Amino acid sequence: MAVIDRILSPTSSFQTRFFFLAKRFVAGETIASALAAVRELNAEGLTATLDFLGEDVADVAEARRTRDTYVEMLAAIEREAARTNVSVKLTALGLLVDETLSAGFLTDIVERAKRLPDPFVRIDMEGSAVTEATLRVFESVYQHDANVGPVIQAYLKRSPADVERAIALGARVRLCKGAYSEPDSVALQDMPTIRKAYLRLAEALLTRGTYPGIATHDERLIEAVKAFAAEHGIGKDRFEFQLLYGVRPELQRALVRDGHNVRVYVPFGTHWAGYFYRRITERRENAFFVLRSLVSR
Ligand SMILES: Cc1cc2nc3c(=O)[nH]c(=O)nc-3n(C[C@H](O)[C@H](O)[C@H](O)COP(=O)(O)OP(=O)(O)OC[C@H]3O[C@@H](n4cnc5c(N)ncnc54)[C@H](O)[C@@H]3O)c2cc1C
Repeated sequence: MAVIDRILSPTSSFQTRFFFLAKRFVAGETIASALAAVRELNAEGLTATLDFLGEDVADVAEARRTRDTYVEMLAAIEREAARTNVSVKLTALGLLVDETLSAGFLTDIVERAKRLPDPFVRIDMEGSAVTEATLRVFESVYQHDANVGPVIQAYLKRSPADVERAIALGARVRLCKGAYSEPDSVALQDMPTIRKAYLRLAEALLTRGTYPGIATHDERLIEAVKAFAAEHGIGKDRFEFQLLYGVRPELQRALVRDGHNVRVYVPFGTHWAGYFYRRITERRENAFFVLRSLVSR
């Protein structure tokens, strides 16, 4: 436990030393390394969304640095004509410090993204303590610019209403299961129920929503979405599958070969611990991969 805590501490030199463990899931520590990963994905027919890792920022200066990094990243994407948009966490833009400030930083990012061929900015969804505030900031920015969209987590009990709200707004939604540990009072707990909820929300988004992102590595869900779309005459150009960098790469390529739009979520940066922790704790396969990397050194 003590070792894990030291590795995961964001200030720890352990994070630098242990980066080799996260390498499968994190595209590097710099914008250049992230763009190199995007270039490889683009060459294989996949698009991307770039995430500068970091969350729960506790002061304005750090939130401003995150905004600046996004602006720099967008300039680099434009220069390299990379086929990627960006994803951002509002707590990295200071949501926990000042909601209005984080909305302002998000607006700066959305404004800079407008110059790109793909100007879309995705707002990642974090723990349930910030769901309401995240959706509030999303709507306030969306009023001025429709190139921004939320993530909805199928495990949250409130999500059917949030999906209907997004559909009414015409907003582009990424649908995922949800990655945070949440209490029974707010979230469904068992996987079969979460899968059912996911599918119901996916069906609503596919039939009435705007270009939803179906974010999952769960082949049962992917097959169910494909079958539903085919049955209802929903073309492959009306939605995209989204998967995480380093997770089931063979499935990512198979979906492309099958004619689907596929976007890979590419995280980068030095603050990889929280993201990495969620990946290794949610799937046995991911944890085994990390153990193998340790053993083979
Ligand atoms: C693009 C993208 C963006 C996301 N954004 C957010 C967000 O903003 N907020 C949030 O809370 N969560 C987000 N998530 C995470 C998400 O909520 C889930 O925690 C995560 O995707 C795991 O759920 P799953 O549906 O992919 O599959 P799981 O439930 O993890 O797995 C389902 C099945 O898939 C197979 N599988 C999965 N992983 C592997 C593997 N590594 N190797 C082999 N087989 C595997 C297994 O058969 C497994 O039984 C995002 C996920 C993706 C893909």
